[in-house]
Order: sequence, then structure tokens, then C-alpha cells
Amino acid sequence: MFIDKVEIYVKAGNGGDGAVAFHREKYVAEGGPSGGDGGNGGSIIFEVDKGETTLLPFRYHRKFVAKNGENGKGEKFHGKTAEDLILKVPQGTLIKDAESGKIMYDMGEDGRFVAAKGGRGGWGNTHFATPTRQIPRFAKGGIQGEERTLILELKMLADVGLVGFPNVGKSTLLSMVSAAKPKIANYHFTTLSPMLGVVSVDTHNFVMADIPGLIEGASDGAGLGHEFLRHVDRCRLLLHVVDAASTEGRDPIDDIEKINTELERYNPEMAERPQILVANKSDVGVEEETRARLEEYAKENNMPIFFISAATRQGVNELLHEVSRLLLTLPAQVRYEAEYVEDLVEENDDRSFEAHLEDGVWIVEAEWIERLVANVNFEDRESLAYFHKVLKKAKVFEKLEELGVQDGDEVSIYGFDFDYVK
Ligand code: GDP
Ligand code: MG
Repeated sequence: MFIDKVEIYVKAGNGGDGAVAFHREKYVAEGGPSGGDGGNGGSIIFEVDKGETTLLPFRYHRKFVAKNGENGKGEKFHGKTAEDLILKVPQGTLIKDAESGKIMYDMGEDGRFVAAKGGRGGWGNTHFATPTRQIPRFAKGGIQGEERTLILELKMLADVGLVGFPNVGKSTLLSMVSAAKPKIANYHFTTLSPMLGVVSVDTHNFVMADIPGLIEGASDGAGLGHEFLRHVDRCRLLLHVVDAASTEGRDPIDDIEKINTELERYNPEMAERPQILVANKSDVGVEEETRARLEEYAKENNMPIFFISAATRQGVNELLHEVSRLLLTLPAQVRYEAEYVEDLVEENDDRSFEAHLEDGVWIVEAEWIERLVANVNFEDRESLAYFHKVLKKAKVFEKLEELGVQDGDEVSIYGFDFDYVK
């Protein structure tokens, strides 16, 4: 069984409480305050495990609670900070907030995501001594760790997706070119879960996915619909397979147009992915007229075309070489923007922050901004745009201008440094 969606509960550790204690010494009636700080609670952190390809482990273990920080003690002993709980997931796992269904993070190649932040430990009473308050009899309690219900969703990181009507030979092709063993049968909708196979051409390996039969209306949720379509989202190249021999009486060009309409309706961006036209079942015999029309169609639509027989492997090697060659020229897989980032802030009613000039650098500080920075992928233009939008909404730039920031001044926000541009 191919498991690609699980719901889990995570809870970060609470911060330990700060201690109220006083230094004791022989002959000293009342020493100074000596209560240590509580330790921080452990966070729940997701990391990519490149060797893992399923979410199977999460099927049996769905509740993850990180340890609490220890309480502070007397004699200025700080409580121990709890270790973070690291959860390993396959590359490509989407982490969603179960309540809103929104994407919080997309585990890319070196993805690391703090899904629930451990509570900070409370300060011991040593922090609260002032010239007028020499005997502070209070300390701060630790902060609660965050908790969330998450949905982990694994989209296949397939480079190549096989699309086409049922029974055109997609599963057969995949089984011939890779070690994957999809179910093959001559009735519709045999492949009920997407199958992945690794294909090797010379020294180049790529992942090919068999996408179960797209049917008319699939993008509206009819039939196999979205559940399956979402598995093709990231393919960089589509092999559009048709039954060139019309063994079921349909016209292959009609088929192509119907499938492309479905793709378009599902995700216009996907309809723009490059396609190779794979005219299958050539062994049965392709009518001259059909062959000419297919070639014409391919030419008009700028698609390479290959007449093959998945069953006899005729023409398959040539096809694979072209796939491999094309893949090496295509951009890397699409990442999803973190649409959650904004909500993360919206949900937080306190958006105040502190800004000041320190040694010629503008520093902006707030706990929510620190969290935001930890969750933004600065390599990704769209995530960066979100970050900018959120700061703007919180009036960070407005405030900096009020304080007199100049064009070209350096601004530093938790390690994200940039030159201010008005
Ligand atoms: P899918 O629904 O697109 O995955 O199609 P399958 O791979 O399950 O194939 C459907 C039927 O077509 C099966 O009976 C296959 O044996 C047959 N088939 C697939 N490829 C070829 C081919 O190249 N030539 C012939 N003659 N039959 C094929
Ligand atoms: Mg199939």
C-alpha cells in the first residue's frame, strides 16, 4: 500500500520554571537571590531523510511529544534544556496545518522545519534583583510548548509522469523500463495508486510515475480525480501515451486533447509542462493516416513523437534517451510557496516589534519575526516575497522610515541581512 497522507499530533516541551532561592552561607542570615532559570522545552523539528521514500513510520506512531525543560534550582543552577525531537521525513513531504489545510512547509532537499517551538524557560529570581528590590521572592514560570495537529503529505518526486487514457499502456511501459511492477490488466482503472519506478539511462537516473487513468471530468473530482492528479504536480516532463492502433476504437488525437483539457483545468501550469507524444501499441499496426495525423499534430504542438510498443520494447530505448536528454535541460522541481507564513502571523494578534540602530545597523526584533525567519526559505523568491509582505503589513518598513533609515543602510533581522531600499 502506498501511504501518502497521515495526520499526526505534535507537542513541543514546556519551558522549565525559574527558581526562587537565596544564597545560603554560614553566618550570613539572608544571601542574595540565587534561583536559576528554567531550561527551554524541546522543539519538534522535521528533517529530510533522503533514504526514506514513504510516510509509513508515521502510520504506527502518530503522537510526538518533546521533553519539557527542567526547572531551575538554587545556587544559580539552571534547569537543563530539553533535546529537540527530530522527525525524519522523505524529501518532498508537505507539512500542512490540519485545521486550515494550508501548507506550512515543503520539505525540499535540505529541508528543516520547526513545526512546534519549545517553550522558553522562565527566569529565576536572580534576574529580578534591583537596587530597590534586593530580595525578589518571585520567578517566572516556563512558557508552554506549542502544539499542533499536522497533516504530512508525500507527493511523489517523479521527474516524468505518464499521462493518457486508461488502457493505452502506461503501466506496461513503466514495468518495461524500471523495476516497478504496476498491475497490468486490460480493463480500466487498474492502477489505483501511483507507481514509481527508477529508470536508468546510461548514468542518468530519473523517477517515472505511472499516473492512473485520467478521465473526463477528473479535474471536477469525478472518478479518480484529484487524489491522483496531485501526484503528478511536480513532474518536469510528461509522457503523453496514446493507443496509436486505436484498439478500443477511440481516436488518439481526440484522446490527447481530452487529457490536456483535464490537465489544464486541474492546473494550468501543469498543462504547460513539456510533453513527449508516445504513440504506443505500434506492434498492432498503425494506420498510415493515423500515423501522418499524429506526426502532424506533434509537429504543430512542438512535441517530440515516438512510435513504440511497450509490449515488445520496440522504440523504447530511443524514447528513454530523449527523455533523459530533455530532463537534463529542464529546470528543477517546483517548490510550493509557504502560504502558511502569513497566517502564522495573522493568527498572532501581537505584531509589535522593536527596531533600533546599533553600530550603524538597523536591528528589528520580535519573537514572531524570529519564528517567521526560521520558517522562510530565503532561496525561494516566492517565500521571500511573503516575508516581505508580512513585514510590510506589520509596518516594519514604515517604522524604520520613521526612525530615519536611509537608502542603502544595513538592516539585520535575525541573521537575514539586507540593504534598505526605499
Ligand atoms: P494503462 O491503463 O495505460 O496503464 O494500460 P496497461 O499498461 O494496463 O495496458 C492495458 C492493456 O494494453 C494490457 O492488456 C496490455 O497488455 C496492453 N498493452 C500495453 N502496451 C501494449 C503494446 O505496446 N502493444 C500491445 N499489443 N498491447 C499493449
Ligand atoms: Mg495502468
